[in-house]
Amino acid sequence: MIVDYHMHLRDPEERVTHSLEAIERFVETAAARGVDEIGFTEHVYYFRQTRPVWTLEYQTERCVYDLDAYVGVVLEAKRAGMPVKLGLEVDYVGDRQGELAAALESYPWDYLLGSVHWLDGLAVDQEPGVWGVESVEGVWRRYFVALSELAASGHVDVLAHPDLAKIFRRWPERVEYPALDGVALEISTAGLHKPVGEIYPAPEMLAGRPPITLASDAHVPQNVGRDLDRAVEHARAAGYETVTVFEGRRGRQEPLG
Ligand SMILES: [Zn+2]
Ligand SMILES: [Zn+2]
Repeated sequence: MIVDYHMHLRDPEERVTHSLEAIERFVETAAARGVDEIGFTEHVYYFRQTRPVWTLEYQTERCVYDLDAYVGVVLEAKRAGMPVKLGLEVDYVGDRQGELAAALESYPWDYLLGSVHWLDGLAVDQEPGVWGVESVEGVWRRYFVALSELAASGHVDVLAHPDLAKIFRRWPERVEYPALDGVALEISTAGLHKPVGEIYPAPEMLAGRPPITLASDAHVPQNVGRDLDRAVEHARAAGYETVTVFEGRRGRQEPLG
């Protein structure tokens, strides 16, 4: 089984398009690349239903879409027999995590991704962002504290791009990887196309053999399933023989590949 559990529903020019036709394009590319099942995971801050939580202009200017329409069209694709799952990429928002979870709880998610993109309003994956005010050691420490909190919150099922702090190829002298219990980690090929040029996460983060998913983080349909053969290799090198398949926020293991 090959899954791609991280993508954003856009048209080929990367415009947000929550439509059945847009889903079909992703499904077709997935099939052509040998991906058995895909999951849509739009950024949570795109949806008006979560508006009270957002403070940054980057978030509020994008917060104009209807969550019911997004969920509705993915469910329609499911009913039509397409191999798709309903997910969302949920941001770490510190002490407002419970409030954000409450806004999402009435929807039939197959899984929720958890991501740390901002630390106290400063971006980890944009420059200067948090890098402009914090040492490399400080960014990594704070990033992993936030990621651990998100994992422990019970509000997400999979951690996206788990060592995102390496995106600009800045590492502390020694990386202290946290133990992250109760969640799966995604093996994401997106890092191959960022300055770091590596898959997320580093093998050290997989040493305790947490459950895994596979992810392209495609923002256009043509990138679905991109480089997943390398993600499978990465998983096998870490000793994995299974991948996690989610349904109704419950994971089960299926043979990898
Ligand atoms: Zn992300
Ligand atoms: Zn994403």
